[in-house]
Amino acid sequence: AEQLALRSEKLSVLGELAAGIAHEIRNPLTSLKGFTALLEERETEKDKKAYISVLKSEIDRIEYTVNELMMLAKPQKVEMKLVKIEELVRSICIFLQPELALKNINLSCDGNSPSAEVLCESNQMKQVVMNVLKNAIEAMRQGGHIHISYRYKEKEMSIVIKDDGDGMPEEILQKIDTPFFTTKQTGNGLGIPMCHNIMKLHHGEMKISSIVGAGTVVELVLPY
Ligand code: ADP
Ligand code: MG
Repeated sequence: AEQLALRSEKLSVLGELAAGIAHEIRNPLTSLKGFTALLEERETEKDKKAYISVLKSEIDRIEYTVNELMMLAKPQKVEMKLVKIEELVRSICIFLQPELALKNINLSCDGNSPSAEVLCESNQMKQVVMNVLKNAIEAMRQGGHIHISYRYKEKEMSIVIKDDGDGMPEEILQKIDTPFFTTKQTGNGLGIPMCHNIMKLHHGEMKISSIVGAGTVVELVLPY
């Protein structure tokens, strides 16, 4: 009976996953269908251009979801290199600058060594830090502070990303590693599961703690 229970548990997890994937892909597909039909009816170049740009962004959405799913299933080629943490953070901040400015969020960074490095697959580690920073930004309404610090511990490098956004209660904290779990209207709930997976592949870990109303702290620990 125990085996059976375990099996039906697995099946329901699989069912939830399948439902999540279907949902993430069906929404943009529905909109692709609708706009393609509209495109057939419209005569003017201006209308056509507007519809095509919607088509493109919906295609991007599907591509984004599929890429994240691939990363969950099996990350692509792994090329471990020593990467300077400050450079890694800087290259991501360039992308996030518009969002940070728009929300009036101040981002600061300090560590105990400007030349501190981590051994990692640089694209994957960028994705992890990018996702954590995006979550931090999304947890803030107007104004706020994100602080990144890093330090060598014994045989480990620890990168700590702290935000003073909304934070989350224990019930949510327990669910955030579940694929497709999201509390956001436009979220896909794949960010944290993907981060966990990448950290695991690096023999590292991601620890999250949070206080409602005070903010969230994410610690990324990597061996070196
Ligand atoms: P998504 O961002 O698409 O919702 P994630 O896997 O990145 O998916 O995050 C899952 C959920 O965890 C979010 O919907 C949010 O409720 C919560 N969460 C993650 N990071 C933070 C944070 N820094 N502050 C508050 N809540 C967070
Ligand atoms: Mg996210």
